[in-house]
Amino acid sequence: MSMYERCIKVMPAVANRATKLGIVDGEGCYVITEDGQKVLDFASGVAVNNLGNKNKEVVEAIKRQLDTMIHVGHNVVYNESYVQLAERLVALTGKDTKVYFSNSGAEANDGAMKLAKYVTKRPGIIAFRNSFHGRTIGSMSITGSSSAYRKNYEPLMPAVYWADYANCHHCPFGKEECSCNMECLKQFDGIFEKLIDPECVAAIMLEPVQGEGGYIVPKPEFLKGLRKICDDHGILLIFDEVQTGIGRTGELYAYQTFGVKPDILTSAKALGGGIPLSAIIAKKEIMDQWPAGAHGGTFGGNPLACTAGLKTLEIIQRDHLLENAKKQGAYLKEGLQELQKKYPKRIGDVRGVGLMVAMELVTEDQNPDAALTAEIKEKALQKNLLLLTCGSDHNVVRFIAPLIVGKAEMDQALHILKEVLEEIL
Ligand code: PLP
Repeated sequence: MSMYERCIKVMPAVANRATKLGIVDGEGCYVITEDGQKVLDFASGVAVNNLGNKNKEVVEAIKRQLDTMIHVGHNVVYNESYVQLAERLVALTGKDTKVYFSNSGAEANDGAMKLAKYVTKRPGIIAFRNSFHGRTIGSMSITGSSSAYRKNYEPLMPAVYWADYANCHHCPFGKEECSCNMECLKQFDGIFEKLIDPECVAAIMLEPVQGEGGYIVPKPEFLKGLRKICDDHGILLIFDEVQTGIGRTGELYAYQTFGVKPDILTSAKALGGGIPLSAIIAKKEIMDQWPAGAHGGTFGGNPLACTAGLKTLEIIQRDHLLENAKKQGAYLKEGLQELQKKYPKRIGDVRGVGLMVAMELVTEDQNPDAALTAEIKEKALQKNLLLLTCGSDHNVVRFIAPLIVGKAEMDQALHILKEVLEEIL
């Protein structure tokens, strides 16, 4: 019996996954399945395995840490890897920040909202349609990419207000490049006038590139404009960098890619080198207003996770993986654009930044084509290329290659994709 067949006997449907693959091993850009297939892994455990699978140096560092301690409890004592990782993150985020560790992206996002509410003493959070921030009640309350995530859980966290994201390819305000007047920023006049006074808003919170929402890359002016709106009204700007962080967009954090610094950012996924770890990183003067007892958690900053995270950051810097992410991402985008030229009516858009690259599929009459997207993902997997989809209309294939990816793996992925498209279209 496969792992999939065994799992469905003992796990509820809610524990479903994107494939039926059972994985027994992995190395670099590849995973090995229980039936011995070597699969090119462009899912990276959903942007976690940024150094690929089973990085030898990370494994060795974790083994050394195992011999020292596994858990001590950051409410109880201090430990070296925990302190070092915090020091490293502060150094890498401008030296004007402080760090608080948790375990998951959702938990960090909840903590970030708590911090903003605590410091501003304001109730409101403005979130964005098509966002994804996690599955806790708090993070789900600001998630706007699927009603299925929210169904039967209402009432959720109150005082959440919604804005439209700067999705230039499908402008929610119906504008084109030539007619755009940054309505995505002007919408805040209406929100503040009709829905919530800006003095009641603790934070504007968003992903600097929307992930689950379809790999939507905003113009830097959008993020700059949000920064100004926040500054004008004493509102805190929070970037959820759970997916965009740790090199995914070609800089350590996407805020560095866009040149707009938030007051608070959350980091998770690849931060712990494959071991659960998340962080709230906020400006020092904000963190300094969060007193003992106002937030906490047993497992935050586990020594194994911090050790793996430190080694991950070291390797990213030493091996110039941010440069590689930019270079390989650009190469992949070029390849996809070539395919788009061949199928201009069905590949509606190719977009991305760094190694956060996506291809949007549409029907002949330019409507979202979820069926074609699912078929591409399925057929690519039959040819041993593991891809994920995203997009609130389920019509985007996303390519989450590890930062160590080379031209050879990109060529392999593009070749498989070409074959798949030739078979289907
Ligand atoms: N925020 C973003 C942008 C994400 O992509 C995700 C997960 O995909 C989360 C938050 C939730 O993180 P976690 O699953 O670790 O709770």
